[in-house]
Amino acid sequence: MSNTKPTYEMLEEKIKFLETKAFLANSLQEMVELNHSFLTMLFDTIPNPIFYKDKNGIYQHCNDAFSKTILGISKKDIIGKSLYDFPDEIPKELADIYNQKDQELFINTGTQYYEGKVQCFDKVVRDYKFYKATFVAENGEVQGIVGTMLDVSEYNKILEELKIKNDALDKLSITDPLTQLYNRRYFNGILKDKISLLTRNDQVFAFMFIDIDFFKNYNDTFGHKKGDIALEDVAHTIQSFALRPTDYAFRIGGEEFCILFNVSEIDKATEFAKKLIKKVEDLKIQAAPNGISKFLTVSAGLCVFKDIICDENCANKAFEKVDKLLYTSKQNGRNQITCEINV
Ligand code: GH3
Ligand code: MG
Ligand code: MG
Repeated sequence: MSNTKPTYEMLEEKIKFLETKAFLANSLQEMVELNHSFLTMLFDTIPNPIFYKDKNGIYQHCNDAFSKTILGISKKDIIGKSLYDFPDEIPKELADIYNQKDQELFINTGTQYYEGKVQCFDKVVRDYKFYKATFVAENGEVQGIVGTMLDVSEYNKILEELKIKNDALDKLSITDPLTQLYNRRYFNGILKDKISLLTRNDQVFAFMFIDIDFFKNYNDTFGHKKGDIALEDVAHTIQSFALRPTDYAFRIGGEEFCILFNVSEIDKATEFAKKLIKKVEDLKIQAAPNGISKFLTVSAGLCVFKDIICDENCANKAFEKVDKLLYTSKQNGRNQITCEINV
C-alpha cells in the first residue's frame, strides 16, 4: 500500500469525478421516473385492461382499466395480491379457471389467446378475449405473465343476433308460407341427399306423392279462402305423419305434397301411407259433390327405393316414378294409394 498522501489536485479530480457520476445517476433516475410515468400514463389511457403477474401469480402491475372496470379496486390494493385474494370480486370457480390458464402458459411458454367469461366490478358477466404472453428475462428465465383483455360482449351479442336472423332467413327460404311445411326448393335438395345416402349406406327410403282430389271443384264451390284453410288442415295431417328426424314433409305445389321417410320394414311403408290417406278423409272436411266421398280426400303414389342409380337425373327419375303411381291412383278412382317396392 502506498503511503503517499493524495495531493490537493488529486482530491479535486476525484470530487469532480464523483460529482459527474452523481449527476449521471440523477439524470438516469429522472429518466427512469419519466419513462415510468410515461408508461403508466400510456397504459392508463388504453381502455383495455392490462396486467402483469409474477411467476407466483402475484399482481405486479395493472392499468386503470383493469383496476376500475374489472375489479373495481384501487391499483395499490391489487398489486401484491393473487387471484385468490379477491373472493368477492373473483369467485373461486372463476379464479380456478384463470389460474389454470396461467399455469398452462407457464408450462407452454410464449403466447396464449382465449375467450372467457369475466365477472366485472358491476357484477355483470362479460365476454373477454385474453391475449397473454410470458415475460422472459435475458437469461431465459420466465419472470411472469403480461396480459391484456378485450371486451367482446357487444360483438358476440351482434354475432348471436345475426345468427338468429340468419337461421330465421334460412328457415323462411325452405318453408312454404301457407302450410309451414318444407317447400319445393328444399325438397329438391333433400331428395338428392336421400338418394345419395342410399348408395352409401344400406338404407331404404320411401317417397310418397300426395295430391288432393277434386280440389279445383272445392275452390269453385267454397271459395279460395276456404280452399286455403283446407290446404292447411291437410298439410297439418301430413306433417303429423313425419315426426322422426329422418322424416320430411313438403308442399311442392298448389295441392300437392310429398313425404320422404326412412323405412325399416318395407310392408310398414304401405301401411303408413294407407293410414295417412284415411286420416285425411277422417278430417271430415266437407267436399264438393264428386261421386267419390262426402269428404275431402287425397290420392297418392308411393315408391320404396333401395337400389337406385345415383346419377345427375336420379331425383327426376324417382319423381317421375311416384308421379306415375299417383296417376294410377287417380285413374283407379282416387282416395287411394298405389305402391311400388323398388328394392
Ligand atoms: P285431381 O283430383 O285430378 O287432382 O283434380 P284437382 O281439381 O285437384 O286438380 P287440378 O290440378 O285440376 O286443380 C288443382 C287446384 O288446386 C287448382 C287450384 O285452384 C287449386 N290450388 C292450387 N294452389 C292453391 C292454393 O294455394 N290455394 C287454394 N285455395 N287453391 C289452390
Ligand atoms: Mg295436382
Ligand atoms: Mg288435385
